[in-house]
Amino acid sequence: MADVFTHDLIIFGAGLAGLRAAIEASRAAQGKLDIAVISKNQLMRAHSVAAEGGTAAVMRPEDGDSAELHAWDTVKGSDFLADQDVVDLFVHTIPSEILQLDHWGIPWTRREDGRIAQRPFGGHSYPRAVLAQDKTGFFEMQTLYDTLLKYNTVKHYNEHFITSILVENNTFAGLTVIDMTTGQFKVIRGKALIIASGGGGTLFGFTTYSQTVTGDGMALAYRAGIPLEDMEFLQFHPTGLVPSGILITEACRGEGGYLINSKGDRFMNKYAPSKLELAPRDLISRSEMTEIEEGRGVKEPNGLDYIYLDLRHLGAKKINEHLPLIREVCIEFNDVDPIKEPIPCRPVAHYSMGGIETNIKGATRVKGIWAAGEAACVSLHGANRLGANSTAECLVWGKIAGGEAGSYCSEAKQAAPMPEARVNAEHKRIFEDLLSTHPPPPPYDIRRELRTCMDVNAGVFRTGQELSRGLEKIQSLRKRYANISIEDKSTVYNTNLYHALEIANLLDLAEITVTGALARTESRGGHARRDYPTRDDVNWLKHTLAFFTEQGPKFDYKPVSITTWKPEERKY
Ligand SMILES: Cc1cc2nc3c(=O)[nH]c(=O)nc-3n(C[C@H](O)[C@H](O)[C@H](O)COP(=O)(O)OP(=O)(O)OC[C@H]3O[C@@H](n4cnc5c(N)ncnc54)[C@H](O)[C@@H]3O)c2cc1C
Repeated sequence: MADVFTHDLIIFGAGLAGLRAAIEASRAAQGKLDIAVISKNQLMRAHSVAAEGGTAAVMRPEDGDSAELHAWDTVKGSDFLADQDVVDLFVHTIPSEILQLDHWGIPWTRREDGRIAQRPFGGHSYPRAVLAQDKTGFFEMQTLYDTLLKYNTVKHYNEHFITSILVENNTFAGLTVIDMTTGQFKVIRGKALIIASGGGGTLFGFTTYSQTVTGDGMALAYRAGIPLEDMEFLQFHPTGLVPSGILITEACRGEGGYLINSKGDRFMNKYAPSKLELAPRDLISRSEMTEIEEGRGVKEPNGLDYIYLDLRHLGAKKINEHLPLIREVCIEFNDVDPIKEPIPCRPVAHYSMGGIETNIKGATRVKGIWAAGEAACVSLHGANRLGANSTAECLVWGKIAGGEAGSYCSEAKQAAPMPEARVNAEHKRIFEDLLSTHPPPPPYDIRRELRTCMDVNAGVFRTGQELSRGLEKIQSLRKRYANISIEDKSTVYNTNLYHALEIANLLDLAEITVTGALARTESRGGHARRDYPTRDDVNWLKHTLAFFTEQGPKFDYKPVSITTWKPEERKY
């Protein structure tokens, strides 16, 4: 029924984390490992290419920055939920990754004196974001891809959709995959797996993410028995372009941009007098929503009321040299030239702080499975991520997980036995149930309603009542999903089928997010409850773990690793 392919190491995802992992595993095994990199889109289409503003690293200790300061900013930014041993490892590793990319040929933006340039970013106390114009992710991806081409032991399965992770006796056994170009059902087996499948941004309707970012790896890991951690913490970025949601990078504020309300006031001086527009994202997003709710926003016909990001005072030269992509996007999509007019923006769903639970080395609880990048929760970002720390995380834990999994594969003798029954069950789910012949209700309404439900009930501010209403809706959508079927039976690029599989994944993630948010009766970082407006360290200084059961997620909690800084009031 399924064609079986075998490799040593399989990498699920070809974004920054996946490509960095593939290079490191190849290097660790001196090119002797047979590595498969699987991606549901073409290689350079991973969402990482959209990263704009920069990658945070301490590059100039002699000028006053330090690893300790980067660590403190990250821990404070996380609202004290980050694991401090993880943060420590991160800040000490990322500078060498920046230099490594430099050696591999990335065109970092330079200062006049030829050294690597850095710009300010929110929540960082030093201009720490290393950049390649405002196209940082694109250049990082291209550099990693070029470097990976050196290794001819890496096979790319592009346009292959992974539908499940096979686990036998708590050990990785393989993946079920559909070749999107032919519809062929495959089992790809290996000794080890690194999940680097990105975030779940399209859980929300108003989002910076492309339609391909659907949390597949997280949902598949969850169903394979790996818990998801801290999923109630979602980041709303302060500057999503209205009405499309396209990201207007924080680098705009790093370069000196202002946030102004409908009266022209720079309102951040009320909410974060010392950091102003460079306060952390959670705080700015709440401030913007307060301005809008108190009537100082600008009305938008679809309800996406907004404030403005004003770059006019930066002048044409700076905008053209440092923010060319942002100018182009604003002109193309909104007919607004930031040199002459302010940009309409509002908070937008942007990042999943939670993800697949891993230890500090990126290993999950299942033998032979690691996770890295946005899909993972190594507990670096806690309740709120600082800008420019995500691409950095992808590089650091791509490297660590790649090295660890590569060494494991070199030592492990063979792949775990293939669980035939599970392969057959997956084949039935897709080719018999979803593609059955009875006239189906199409799945698209479910996706639309799910996103609206998340926008309305699990946004920047939350209440118990809204979250309960959201959960009820998600559960009713789940029941409807059980009866869907795909009208299009074609085998070549059957996008209806893949969208339906993605919706199943998003439904799982939505249920976990909302149930976890309902349980967490406090406000911390990106999780702001109007009915519990303060942080509660006595009861909630702990990580949430969601385990799969047939009846829905089962929750447990684990302590935060606090090695250096005791939680204190978070003021900016
Ligand atoms: C617009 C935007 C700008 C950003 N700018 C910055 C920035 O300046 N600095 C910063 O630090 N962070 C930034 N971020 C965040 C950062 O870019 C991401 O967190 C990071 O790039 C994620 O990389 P990744 O490797 O984990 O996943 P991705 O790059 O999303 O890659 C995921 C991979 O998994 C594959 N995949 C997923 N599901 C399946 C499946 N079912 N089957 C097969 N393959 C699958 C995809 O095809 C893809 O190859 C930005 C985010 C956005 C949305």
